[in-house]
Amino acid sequence: MEQTKRDYYEVLGVDKTASADEIKKAYRQKAIQYHPDRNPGNKEAEEKFKEAAEAYEVLSDPEKRKRYDQFGHAGMNGMGGFSTGNFDLNDIFSMFGDVFGGRMSDMFSGGSRSQQYTPRGSDLRVKVKLTLEEIRTGVEKKIRVKKNIPCEQCHGTGSEDGRVDTCPTCHGTGHIVRQQRGMFGIMQVQQLCPDCQGEGKRIVNKCKHCGGEGIVRGDEIISINIPAGVAEGMQLTVPGKGNAAPHNGVNGDLLVLIEEEKHPELIRDESNLIYNLLLSVPTATLGGQVEIPTLEGKVKVTIQPGTQPGKILRLKGKGLPTIDSYGRSYGNGDLLINIGVYIPETLNKDEKKMMEELAKSDNMKPNNKDSKNFFKNLFR
Ligand SMILES: [Zn+2]
Ligand SMILES: [Zn+2]
Repeated sequence: MEQTKRDYYEVLGVDKTASADEIKKAYRQKAIQYHPDRNPGNKEAEEKFKEAAEAYEVLSDPEKRKRYDQFGHAGMNGMGGFSTGNFDLNDIFSMFGDVFGGRMSDMFSGGSRSQQYTPRGSDLRVKVKLTLEEIRTGVEKKIRVKKNIPCEQCHGTGSEDGRVDTCPTCHGTGHIVRQQRGMFGIMQVQQLCPDCQGEGKRIVNKCKHCGGEGIVRGDEIISINIPAGVAEGMQLTVPGKGNAAPHNGVNGDLLVLIEEEKHPELIRDESNLIYNLLLSVPTATLGGQVEIPTLEGKVKVTIQPGTQPGKILRLKGKGLPTIDSYGRSYGNGDLLINIGVYIPETLNKDEKKMMEELAKSDNMKPNNKDSKNFFKNLFR
């Protein structure tokens, strides 16, 4: 079984060139997202929380970060308590209390300090395309995801008959201690047990269906609740819906990337929508009624006589909700009707005659005051 550890930068979602501040900010975000207090009883979230803390422990320390950049995870052995990927929540709170800005450790009782490594499933990424109508209301999407799922034959244990022994190499501890000659003489280096990859267990008879992995390829229909107000490029996390882990370990997450379908008539501007409306000269001058598309169907809008090009009409609340970083949606933006007036490029004989008649009227001629009024927005 190949147990790969995720890249620390990937865990925190930052670039390799990220500043100390960016790393701290990213960790804070992850820590809040996966905080046990916000995800009670959610084992996946707890694992993510620990994973982020481990990444932060290394990347926030310039020495460790340098070493990690150079040697990767291999360079981290013996560098700290996190090398086996296991520690309890109190450790995290006592170490990084400054990031949280509070004494959160009081809320949690000490967990058991287990040294075994829990296998993890990897995260999966999917794209979901949404219409503006769906974005306005929020939507539940059901998608079929190809992924690793627990083997039905062995219920994810990887064992043909349920017999699981203690790993003889590490005696169940999940790690071995080696002596290694280093810069400062002989050092005791703790390493993941190569025979059980840290699990501390040995399957006696491997399941023939999954080869002892406890997982097989399959698919799952996953329903994703997408809150109102999301936008192109946003990513939602569905904890625990990524790849299943070997031997009933901790599932990865499903990362949902939002894509926005273009609306044929409406243009999105954050929480507002824009509709470009081109009026005829008679409608702009005489007034009238026009139909405007909204995300809830067409509505009739009255155009006042003497409506100028460049005027913006506002349909309150016909836009999109705003979403905050916790996925809560609130309010609704507006639909802005951006008015233009269409001047025909050619006229027939009759029209030309009518225009020439109109031209004789003084009322048709803009004066200085009209000009100032019309262009006032340009000279603020
Ligand atoms: Zn072992
Ligand atoms: Zn199996």
